[in-house]
Amino acid sequence: MKNVICCRCVKCGKEYAAKPDVATCDCGGILDVIYDYDSIKTVFDKNTLKHRDEPTMWRYRELLPIEEDTAPAGLRVGMSPLYEAPKIADDLGIRRLYIKDDGVNPTASLKDRASAMAVTKAIEAGYDTIACSSTGNAASSLAGNAAKAGLKTYIFVPARAPKGKIAQLMMFGANLTAVDGSYEETFELSKAAIDKYGWYNRNAAINPYLSEGKKTVAHEICEQLGFHAPDFIAVSVGDGCTVAGVYKGLYDMYMVGLIDKIPRIISVQAQGCCPINTAVMNDAPWQPQEENTYADSIAVGVPRNPDKAINAIRNSGGVCVNVTDDEIREAQKYLARNAGVFGEPAGVTATAGLMKLSREGKLPHDATVVSIVTGNGLKDIDSAIQSVGEPVHCKNDLAEFEAKFGL
Ligand SMILES: *Cc1c(COP(=O)(O)O)cnc(C)c1O
Ligand SMILES: [Zn+2]
Repeated sequence: MKNVICCRCVKCGKEYAAKPDVATCDCGGILDVIYDYDSIKTVFDKNTLKHRDEPTMWRYRELLPIEEDTAPAGLRVGMSPLYEAPKIADDLGIRRLYIKDDGVNPTASLKDRASAMAVTKAIEAGYDTIACSSTGNAASSLAGNAAKAGLKTYIFVPARAPKGKIAQLMMFGANLTAVDGSYEETFELSKAAIDKYGWYNRNAAINPYLSEGKKTVAHEICEQLGFHAPDFIAVSVGDGCTVAGVYKGLYDMYMVGLIDKIPRIISVQAQGCCPINTAVMNDAPWQPQEENTYADSIAVGVPRNPDKAINAIRNSGGVCVNVTDDEIREAQKYLARNAGVFGEPAGVTATAGLMKLSREGKLPHDATVVSIVTGNGLKDIDSAIQSVGEPVHCKNDLAEFEAKFGL
């Protein structure tokens, strides 16, 4: 890969050749892919993108860690819509709000960006089987992208994962294990099996290429805003791989000269499970927490990518905010009704964080803000119906209909 220099440990700085199945550092630290921005700059600029007719995450391939002759495997991922939401901007008391709806990806979450990268790297490395543990979305996106790419999967999720995600996994033909235990226990079992059988590892803690896929969401935000960087980008945080990716994408764009500042990241976690925000706010090492939130995708008590995540939040001059499950439920309805975007609980958590910061008077009035919706609401119907209730029932009778709606 001409564009990649090496993979470097975020803990000790040790460097490794960027092989497709490189894992963690000897010291246990997670690796970060290091690019040769000076050389990338000579072949990649606004004009390159203007003439590139490829509406997927691979339009940024100069900034992605794949060989020049590798054909991207997997589904059609990326270039999700960025909607301006003036009504919500008004309500929040800010100049502009944009909603980046990543729930429209092929398996309906931002995780498709990481999974498309994972199956592409697995094929580059010559594997025929790929495995992961996940709260649900990484799993279902891996199963879908692997089905398209012709790879076998072994997948581990906590048994609590919502039915929609389980249905996707079964439908895509994953060898699925629903683990009776926490996400931490799920991760441990997957690790033991992967170590024993040597499958390609799509775990967020191990594989440095995953946040490289996820970072394309930030590339797109920059391009969709005409390379005018927003002031803030709000994102929900579980393992920390997504927020790390968002920062990396912004850093890429800054380093190749396409944006002139790095937006501040607003890191939003659930009050009942917020180890990363707690560490940043207390400027202390992170500590495991209980997984007390109904937002299953961010119910991560032992985050697998804390170092990259904490660096991302700090280096961007970021803001941390925790929200209750009730605040997430309120944001889910509010976003659906005022922007037409139906996100799953973790998918609307970033917006819940913005609503809270606004109530506390902490959002500058002249700010331009992007809120990332990370997953689609149809993945978790039960919790959605609990928030909004059942529909009005009516016979084929106009008078009854009028009575029910007070018309
Ligand atoms: C995975 C996920 C997140 C959080 O991403 P992490 O990399 O675990 O921090 C947020 N929202 C949804 C919908 C997700 O699936
Ligand atoms: Zn190291």
